[in-house]
Amino acid sequence: MILLDGKKLSGEIRDELKIKVDLLKAAGSKVPHLAAVLVGENPASKAYVGNKIRFCEEVGYKSTLISASTDITQTELLDIIIQLNEDEDIDGYIVQLPLPKHIDEATINLAIDHRKDVDGFHPMNFGRMAEGMTSYLPATPAGIMEILSRYNIDTDGKHCVVVGRSNIVGTPMSILLSRKGNPGNCTVTLTHSRTKDIKAELLRADIVIAAIGIPEFIKGDMIKEGAVVIDVGINRVEDSSRKSGYKLVGDVAFDEVSPKASAITPVPGGVGPMTVTALMLNTFKAATKEIY
Ligand code: NAD
Repeated sequence: MILLDGKKLSGEIRDELKIKVDLLKAAGSKVPHLAAVLVGENPASKAYVGNKIRFCEEVGYKSTLISASTDITQTELLDIIIQLNEDEDIDGYIVQLPLPKHIDEATINLAIDHRKDVDGFHPMNFGRMAEGMTSYLPATPAGIMEILSRYNIDTDGKHCVVVGRSNIVGTPMSILLSRKGNPGNCTVTLTHSRTKDIKAELLRADIVIAAIGIPEFIKGDMIKEGAVVIDVGINRVEDSSRKSGYKLVGDVAFDEVSPKASAITPVPGGVGPMTVTALMLNTFKAATKEIY
């Protein structure tokens, strides 16, 4: 069984990016500049944004953090978006989700200049991805594609079962793996909460992408011998033996599934670090105008 080590891969890509940034500096070019908008005090959102800013510092990008209070109005947030769109020094930016309930996420997403949409959530980028054109890929699916590619996982002609149909993970994953390309060329089944018999679908899968949000939902008896398993889930479960009082587990029961899998991502240390890394790769593309 191969452990698909996202943490290690992320470190390797960080080193590659550092070298590329140094080359930009040596050529007298500006370094990539990422901005992040954080609304409110959600601890998970703060941690995610903190990781992104730290990564920027490590690779030598410039970063700007814009923090707003939970009671910011939608109009005020849209004003910030307009400023970020117009700021020529900023190559790309993200608006950390979720936003407070009184703000319509779709309206905010549409207001982001798609050329700076390094999260890859804007319909322009999503549509271009579906058409097989160059685009910013959403960070988590892009990170998964990077794992598959760098570990030389053969996807050609394989049957892939994606569990979960969210706009940020399951649906784009199903598109990317069914597209012509490497990784790609899979026959994809996209399953979700209304799928009749998930176990029967999973037992036919050469590659499983689990993005559900239910702790250890996928058990050992739901996986075919030799399957490649990508666990996107990040779930907190109580653990009184830890100081924090909780531990992180995926959507896959790792101890049961890993002996049957030919390759599997751990949680933590699998897809999570690669999501931040993919955002940084997108930001580099934004700075060097690779996409637009
Ligand atoms: P979501 O809540 O938007 O979507 C969950 C999907 O799971 C839905 O499409 C739903 O149909 C499906 N689902 C729910 N119950 C199901 C069931 N019983 N059987 C089959 N399908 C079912 O979730 P999301 O944003 O895609 O996130 C999924 C998980 O991945 C969460 O644990 C989240 O924290 C994690 N996540 C991790 C990263 C990362 O960087 N590693 C990034 C994004 C999300």
